[in-house]
Amino acid sequence: MGDDVILLAPSRVEANVMGAGVIVTGTGAAAIRGVVEALRERVRPGVPVAVAGTAERLGPDLVPGQLVVANELWTLGTGSSLRVAPSAVRRIDAAELLAAELRHQGHSVAVGPVVTASSDTGGEACDRAALGRLGALVLDYDSAWAAALADDNRPLAVVRAVEDLAGPGAMAAVDTRRAAAALAGVRPPLERWARACRPRRIVMAAPRSFCAGVERAIEIVERALARYGAPVFVRRQIVHNAHVVSRLAAMGAVFVDELDEVPDGATVVLAAHGVSPDVRVQAAARDGFTVIDATCPLVAKVHHEARRFASRGYEIVLVGHAEHEEVVGTAGEAPDRTHLVATTHDVDRLQLSPGSRVAYLTQTTLATDETAEVIDALRRRFPDVAGPSADDICYATQNRQDAVRAIARECDLLLVVGSANSSNTARLVEVARREGCPAELVEDAGQLRLSWLDGAATVGITAGASAPESIVTEVVEALSCLGPLEVDEHRTTTETIRFSLPPQVR
Ligand code: SF4
Repeated sequence: MGDDVILLAPSRVEANVMGAGVIVTGTGAAAIRGVVEALRERVRPGVPVAVAGTAERLGPDLVPGQLVVANELWTLGTGSSLRVAPSAVRRIDAAELLAAELRHQGHSVAVGPVVTASSDTGGEACDRAALGRLGALVLDYDSAWAAALADDNRPLAVVRAVEDLAGPGAMAAVDTRRAAAALAGVRPPLERWARACRPRRIVMAAPRSFCAGVERAIEIVERALARYGAPVFVRRQIVHNAHVVSRLAAMGAVFVDELDEVPDGATVVLAAHGVSPDVRVQAAARDGFTVIDATCPLVAKVHHEARRFASRGYEIVLVGHAEHEEVVGTAGEAPDRTHLVATTHDVDRLQLSPGSRVAYLTQTTLATDETAEVIDALRRRFPDVAGPSADDICYATQNRQDAVRAIARECDLLLVVGSANSSNTARLVEVARREGCPAELVEDAGQLRLSWLDGAATVGITAGASAPESIVTEVVEALSCLGPLEVDEHRTTTETIRFSLPPQVR
């Protein structure tokens, strides 16, 4: 028996496929009950139980060799093939996390109910098609009975590999080769799941999630849809978050890369990251466009500074990431005078004419510590360099980074919720790692990896300025499936900033 997990399989063949130390339970309620009773005396408290084996396909869309992770165990009563009494349904919370781990390993995985018949005879009597219509995915003769070993509240997982039915008829001979091949790969993910199961402390960084600029941009699209009706066209992602974009798309927003994809007479929203003047000129030239600008006022301020410096004859050094839409927009204010740098190295390589007047601006969503180094390098090289009237790195970026720094050293792992193309979100990961805390970016709970959680007793959680708090809640709920949580919040400041809406949607 393994130290980390108790692995149970119905037959010697299935146990051998999974490797040494797997306990064979047999099939049918009566046989397994005896095995479980004997095991109760021997197993250490709290050690997770995993039940695995092959199973018969019920769900019409399943394919042989696919894995099914049970989120419910249905026990089929004898005498009635279809009756599934509520008392015989057992929920399994960690199914999605385990399924994600198996998918990451390359398996095709479905999550859903697994039905256990009391014996092979019960299986013969049951109506597989009807069970499939009720939503059940596979049928076996052991899972629900073997799962009784976890009745003392220890973590439980059930994984079944879908068998081929080799001929017509309910209990026709089966070809288990593809199922066995899939089953052979489940042990490492099950062991990772077991090692991730433990009580945890969760430290929520605050502030986190939406900033005022993102709230304003989302509200602009929502109000535009309500006032002008769908479709409302949005140039580029309104904010860099896949969940926000898909929710607004479901409401009738149509996201385009460029304005030439938008028909005349349409309502168009320009995204929060801002656009170069070229795009505004293009929009103004189109017939009957209603253009609503969702550029964050703090990005608009940087554009204003770029125009001011350019009109006074400065060469503008813009600190930022070349590919980011905000940087493209800001550089577009003075393309002939803007020089992009991202590192101190780039500052060394700058080639400006002797006697140039030099000013710098920064992208709003950079890491404050790294940007300070670049600005110091600029000041060393150009002692008279002019800067913006106030720091360009926005309050929300600064606050979220400060909140991460405040908790990083007490955490074994920091989870940053947000999309990979969100600059401020990516910076939160970097800030935590520079503080010595392992950090991972997750779009949502489906991207959690069990291996990150092995040994992680204290997990910090934050979210980028474009990530919805509802996704943060889902991540916490997913972690709660791995053991009891104690959740604290560490708040470093309270944000009260709100931006007014543009006139077209007020
Ligand atoms: S992160 Fe800052 S600059 Fe970007 S939208 Fe939010 S408030 Fe505006």
